[in-house]
Amino acid sequence: MSPVGSITMNHSAHKGQPGGAAGESAMAGQHAPERASDSLVGQRVSVFDLNAVSLRELLASWGEPAYRATQLLEWVYRGATRFAEMTNLAKPLREKLTANVDLRRSQIVRRQEARDGTIKLLLRWPDGQTSETVLIPEGERRTTCVSTQVGCPVGCVFCASGLGGLKRQLSAGEIVEQAMRASEACAPVRLSNLVFMGLGEPLANYQATVQAVRTINAEWGLAIGARKITVSTVGLPSQMRRLADEALQITLALSLHAPTDELRRQIIPWAKRVEIAELIDAGRYYFEKTGREVTLEYVLLGGLNDSAEQAVALGRVARQLRSNVNLIPYNPVEMLPFCRPREQDVGHFLNHLREAGVNAHIRASRGLDIDAACGQLRYRQGLEARPDQTNVFPDPNQTVPGRPPVP
Ligand code: SAH
Ligand code: SF4
Repeated sequence: MSPVGSITMNHSAHKGQPGGAAGESAMAGQHAPERASDSLVGQRVSVFDLNAVSLRELLASWGEPAYRATQLLEWVYRGATRFAEMTNLAKPLREKLTANVDLRRSQIVRRQEARDGTIKLLLRWPDGQTSETVLIPEGERRTTCVSTQVGCPVGCVFCASGLGGLKRQLSAGEIVEQAMRASEACAPVRLSNLVFMGLGEPLANYQATVQAVRTINAEWGLAIGARKITVSTVGLPSQMRRLADEALQITLALSLHAPTDELRRQIIPWAKRVEIAELIDAGRYYFEKTGREVTLEYVLLGGLNDSAEQAVALGRVARQLRSNVNLIPYNPVEMLPFCRPREQDVGHFLNHLREAGVNAHIRASRGLDIDAACGQLRYRQGLEARPDQTNVFPDPNQTVPGRPPVP
């Protein structure tokens, strides 16, 4: 039997095995397995895939009292990266933990800091896949943007994340680990907000996303308030309803991007299967169940969805949903044929919404000089790795080669 026994983990979503033997050797040295049996696929567990209950169960199966789990979680979410630091745990227990549990599975293979303080991290997982995490400082606030998938299966026409399709799902532990990496990057200031707006469609990786939300929200975990957590979705009505039934107080953001089904289908391939009317119904359900208003996100693409008529039509949708609207001027992606809207068009668009009684804001683009739009760093990494082919789209089957860790 596996040393982690029957502990509940979220590995089912994986195409690959991040805990696999190849991955273990690529991890930061201190947790390298000492015995051959420790490196068998699927035997090790990431601490971020565990919760307070499953960790207690694991320790109980080793004959440890429940309060050990509390002690361990305090170390983990204070940022400990080695069990040897956990001096209030007995040495034999620390050795057993070292042999069975990973404290970090990612390596930071690239770190970029923008002039406005935005930090973008490219993380490489043991199976060689990479994902992006962004940290955005704004006054007292520290917001991190995490990815839920490697790539994205949706393929919205303007977005870098979907360019190579979906490579694999991220596990709950991998999502939480991104938040921990961001938390380390902003220390000693505490992470205050978290948005699921990085690579991937969170509701197409539903279980891992919800499990990660619970850990990020938990007092024993990252302790970020539910109201400071936002899940952004391209719009999957049944999953939106399911999320409403989870009784979490998180914010749901719906990426609309077009006020009519006809235009929306041109921008978002999955909109061919879902009508705006269904999204309005699901959004209302979310509001009824949680008391939390759904936010509408609308990326303004110059000349495509930024006209006065479209603003008026968007106002009608927003009023039906009683939604706030976030307008996001497009953050250009190299080689995609879309451009930022003109400043005056953005101003007019906003005014039309406000005149219609809609609470609307423009969300400033952050980190423009470091390609902070989701998916762009990973995409660029692919281009830079093949400098002779910089004017073609990356081959979706090509593995993005890693870089040595940033010192
Ligand atoms: N898949 C989810 C969450 C990730 S994308 C979703 O689509 O909602 C998070 C937000 O970033 C979405 O609203 C998306 O439309 C927006 N976005 C993606 N690429 C962008 C770009 N290049 N410029 C501006 N916003 C972008
Ligand atoms: Fe995927 Fe969201 Fe990008 Fe669309 S906008 S391709 S759903 S990450």
